[in-house]
Amino acid sequence: MALAITCTASAQDKKEYPKPEAMRPGMSEYWTPQPKVVTPGDIKTNTAPSDAIVLFDGKDLSAWTNGKDGPAEWTVKNGIVTVDKTKGDIVTRQKFGSFQLHLEWCVPTDIEGTSQSRGNSGVFLQDMYEVQILDCYENETYVNGMTGSIYKQTPPLANAMRRPGEWNVYDIIYTAPVFKEDGTYLYKPYVTVIQNGVVLQNHTEIQGTTEYIGFPRTVKHGDGPIRLQMHGDPSKAISFRNIWIRPM
Ligand code: MG
Repeated sequence: MALAITCTASAQDKKEYPKPEAMRPGMSEYWTPQPKVVTPGDIKTNTAPSDAIVLFDGKDLSAWTNGKDGPAEWTVKNGIVTVDKTKGDIVTRQKFGSFQLHLEWCVPTDIEGTSQSRGNSGVFLQDMYEVQILDCYENETYVNGMTGSIYKQTPPLANAMRRPGEWNVYDIIYTAPVFKEDGTYLYKPYVTVIQNGVVLQNHTEIQGTTEYIGFPRTVKHGDGPIRLQMHGDPSKAISFRNIWIRPM
C-alpha cells in the first residue's frame, strides 16, 4: 500500500500544467469611468469647489432656518455671519447623508471666559452628533469637550487652535450610519475632522448622540441637516464664513 501512494504522487509531480500568463502593466489598469472634473475652490477668495452646495457665501442665510420653520436670524455683515445669542441655533434647509463639509469660524479678539464658557458653539452632523467648536487657545477644559472633540466622547488628537481674531478652518468628512430594522446600528457613523490642516479626528467611530448629560444614545435616523449651535455661555459670540458641503 505504501508503495502505491508513492507512485501516484510521483505521476502528479511529472504532469505539466499551463503556467500563468506573464503580467504586463496594462493588465491591472483601467480607464473608465473617469472621475468628474471639479474645479477646486480658493481659500483666499472664499470660493467653494465647483460641485459644492454653498451653505453660506457671505451674503445671506437663505440656506438656513431657525430649526422651527422660521428664517435663520443670525447677523450677516461684511461677508461673515455672527451668532445672535437671542435667536437660537441655525439649521440647513437641506438634509444630507455622507458628506465633506467645510466651514471657517473665528472667535472675537476680546473673548473672555474659561473652559466651556469661551466661544462655545458646535456643528451637528445630521442634526445628531456634535463636533465641538470652542476657543481652546490657551484655554483648558475637559478633553472630550475640546474643539474638535466628538462632544463628551472622543478628544481631538491635537490642539490646533489659532488665537482669537484669526480664522479657524474645519474640514469634516462624515460617513453616515446604517441602522438595522430594530433601530440599533448596523454600521456606526464615522468622522474625520481636520482643523487648520491638522488632523483632530481620524475616521473616528461615533458612539451615538452627543449628550451634555449622560452617555451616547442610539437614535435611528435618516438624512439630516447641519446644525450650528447657539451656546448660551456669556462670552462674546463667534462668527462663521465660507460654509459649503459636498454630499458623497
Ligand atoms: Mg458646543
